Amino acid sequence: MNLVSFSIKTKGPRNFARRLWTVFSRFGFSETRNRRSLETLIHELKPYQAAPTFFIPAVVLQRHPRLLADIEQAGAEIGIHGYVHNDYRQLSKDAQYTQTSRAIATFQQVKMPFQGFRNPYLGWSEDSVQVFTDLGFVYESNEAVLHDVVDQASLPPTILDGYQKSLALYRALSCTTYALRPHFEDTLLRIPTSIPDDEMLFDRLRITSGEEVGKLWSLVMQHVYELEGAYVLNLHPERGVLCRQALSILLRTATSQPRPVWITRLDEIARWWKERARFTFTLQQTAPGTWHIVADCTERATILARHVQLVEQPTTTRNEHEVSVEARSFTLEALQCPAIGVSPETPEAVLAFLHEQGYAALRASEEERASYAHYLHLPAGLGTSRSAQFEMRSDIIQQIEGLTAPLLRFACWPSGHQAALSISGDIDSVTIQDFFLRILEVGSV
Ligand SMILES: [Zn+2]
Repeated sequence: MNLVSFSIKTKGPRNFARRLWTVFSRFGFSETRNRRSLETLIHELKPYQAAPTFFIPAVVLQRHPRLLADIEQAGAEIGIHGYVHNDYRQLSKDAQYTQTSRAIATFQQVKMPFQGFRNPYLGWSEDSVQVFTDLGFVYESNEAVLHDVVDQASLPPTILDGYQKSLALYRALSCTTYALRPHFEDTLLRIPTSIPDDEMLFDRLRITSGEEVGKLWSLVMQHVYELEGAYVLNLHPERGVLCRQALSILLRTATSQPRPVWITRLDEIARWWKERARFTFTLQQTAPGTWHIVADCTERATILARHVQLVEQPTTTRNEHEVSVEARSFTLEALQCPAIGVSPETPEAVLAFLHEQGYAALRASEEERASYAHYLHLPAGLGTSRSAQFEMRSDIIQQIEGLTAPLLRFACWPSGHQAALSISGDIDSVTIQDFFLRILEVGSV
């Protein structure tokens, strides 16, 4: 399928005509206009000691190596956005492997470092996850989590139809605490992205005010903050001034929360999640109702405790039911062991999942059930299909978060941050020529 028919299918003919018109207003025949947009985004994040992550198709990088080298030098991270701008869901596993390898070779040839992959149209498949793992990517950022900030009932039918086409194209996941956090699948980290993105709001819903979009993104930020998640915003730098205004509102919201939000690049999130994956708690009962805890973790870790009494240890209030503990070795008193007990019949994957979520968790027999904050007996594991697993993982976290029982955990984010915010952008084209070359390129790989 070529770009025109694909765009018509996913965006509708009317939207495609609008898109064509906007191409001429957003791109130039030279790099100048896009260079300015990219530099503006970098400049916008500087006061927050932050930088964006951009994804670019390899063929576009190959045409603009100097520009991208400058952007990378200015502090941005560059990731791979396909060899050409196509939908991997239409490709066999072999074709995905070949095209991804070609993209890697192009990045290497122009000496552009990379760690992550984002698919055009967020179009990943089970094969993609395997291919990215086999080819050694550190992370991918494709799973789209939908935040319910748009009142769909109030939209006129044609607009609603376009919006729903986007939701279907991105296979939007419902927003749960689990969905908003990165997770490992084998060695590949999957960092979710949040929607609606700039295209859905400006092009699909035809919102014309940057301020209004900024307010919607701020609502998303608020939500992600409450759930201790990562807000990965995806925007297209070519939208320039509209995005800039919305972004500055979002950044102000992120930095005016009671606790700090970590504004950072996706490779930094990946580095942290890998560091955090090695953290462990050792709990030893020293007397009835008393445990000695040793946390094996780095300086950046935050240890959180709820419904326990720390013995001669200073703590800081973190939220209405948790305190943070500075020490890495301490004694506490509690009515139950402050960990999740996991039955011997429950597969190892469940324990690994609890561990990744930061909870203290250990094997315990059925007889010991009552002495744990929470006890999981899941002999069938987390489910067989991806969607069943998503539901179950989301439910388990919700259950645990709803407990009023003693529990220890590592916070999600480093150095006392409550949530993460990453500004990412897809550089689909730099110039008008790039935009039209996409049609030929997608058909020729
Ligand atoms: Zn794209």
